[in-house]
Amino acid sequence: MKTLTGTGVSEGLALGRIVWYGKSAPDGAALTDFDSARKIAAEEFEKRAAGCGSPETAALYESYLLMLEDPDLEDGVRKKTSAGADPAAAVRETGEELAAVLLALEDEYMRARAEDVRSVSRRLSDIMCGKTFAITDFDAPIILAAPDLTPADTVGLDAGSIAGVLLAGGSANGHTAILAQLMGIPAVIGLGNSLGPGLDGLSCAVDGKTGAVTLEPDSAFEASFRAEMKMAGLRKDALKQFASRPAETSRGQRIKVMCNIGSAADAEAAAGSGCDGIGLFRTEFLYLDPEGLPGEEKQFEAYKKALQLMEGKEVIIRTCDIGSDKKADHLQLPAEENPALGLRGIRLSLAREEMFLTQLRALLRASVFGRLSVMFPMITSLDEFKRAKALWKTAMDRLSRENVPFDAGVPLGAMIETPAAAIISGELAGEADFFSIGTNDLTQYTLAADRQSPDVAALFDPGHPAVKKLIEMTARAAAERGIPVGICGNSAADPELLEFYINAGIGELSVSPGRALSLKRDICSL
Ligand code: PEP
Ligand code: MG
Repeated sequence: MKTLTGTGVSEGLALGRIVWYGKSAPDGAALTDFDSARKIAAEEFEKRAAGCGSPETAALYESYLLMLEDPDLEDGVRKKTSAGADPAAAVRETGEELAAVLLALEDEYMRARAEDVRSVSRRLSDIMCGKTFAITDFDAPIILAAPDLTPADTVGLDAGSIAGVLLAGGSANGHTAILAQLMGIPAVIGLGNSLGPGLDGLSCAVDGKTGAVTLEPDSAFEASFRAEMKMAGLRKDALKQFASRPAETSRGQRIKVMCNIGSAADAEAAAGSGCDGIGLFRTEFLYLDPEGLPGEEKQFEAYKKALQLMEGKEVIIRTCDIGSDKKADHLQLPAEENPALGLRGIRLSLAREEMFLTQLRALLRASVFGRLSVMFPMITSLDEFKRAKALWKTAMDRLSRENVPFDAGVPLGAMIETPAAAIISGELAGEADFFSIGTNDLTQYTLAADRQSPDVAALFDPGHPAVKKLIEMTARAAAERGIPVGICGNSAADPELLEFYINAGIGELSVSPGRALSLKRDICSL
């Protein structure tokens, strides 16, 4: 029995066997040869085609199977490896070259295949480097351990098959931790070199709150851990009494407790959580899907499903916030020195109008299926907000001309997650129907503390007086105009900041579905 200690970033207890997901060769070189990797990939694609339940997705995986046999891919790889290249790098490079050829073609359909070629070659090289399974392949719950995971890696991760997540690196405020919280999967990060391929197959107990990871627990430890898990279950059951109660302080202040979600499937957990609605649907996770950019239809279905599941409760959907740590390879964004200060959120949407209009059309079409509100991320100026609103109008005009029904009165909100937006919140309140404060980014930008960096984690403090002043400023501006203001960053679930938020005039707090009832309890006991 041995205990490792990291940082707990997603509460909960888990017991299971470790599966190591990562490059196991010390230098990242290939471990599996090209032909074996093709066999593994073929089995994976066949399994996915059979199990996906959608003819379009099945067709996509069938096309991937054909690409595995592409003689140009094989030639390129063999030539590069005989010239001394590492086989995994040879596969990646050949994939990029073939994709570039497709991108140069006139035919739009062929150009669109470039991304598929990239997906196939990336999957092959991952397999060659030791990622021999897809992250979603498990039937029995496992403890997934990895050097680090990007948000794109974690999309599709299923709470039913992953009992816990352990990372050597990672950051408490990054989106991988946020995804684990949304799915209610206990997670411990920052375990450093003590986590490695040698732990594969070991049994372990994970405490996502304290960050303690106990390897090969002895029977006494396991028995007491199971008892603790049972107690946690009972505490959770006791919270159920708050599901049907409004969250109201003893002074009679009614606070809306909303849920954050990252997919339409998460809306199911939210719908059963006793919350007052969805305070933040992070739509960018749809864009990180390895299958490529989501079209209008796929987005429409996702938004419609979330609205229907919430049965008339408000659902605030945020337009795509790609960029920074959320990288979508198929968008081919330029590499940036400081991606958190670069082309992300509304900046990217305004730079790619047609992609943005596709999302706005899908949202408008879905608006007739429930109570939709829409908000724009990373606002730093009034002009950005007005331009986003103008494109919303363009999308409405186009749909009207096509006789497609939509709700013309969807409230449009601004996320206040940059100091600039908080400082001009008075002007923004004249244009926006509501505010939602993103304290993750607001803290990062106010304190100049990268939310991704473990080295400055101690500086990242949502309770810092400067962040609090900006929140008070925003809440005052909202009150003067009579528009609602909520908080949807992680600190919305922080019991130590709760009283401050309520006194500042925050009327809505949006948290992961697993935290909604404990937040209601905390509000009721204020
Ligand atoms: C935030 O910044 O607080 C927020 C809610 O958005 P995200 O965490 O997705 O950047
Ligand atoms: Mg943000």
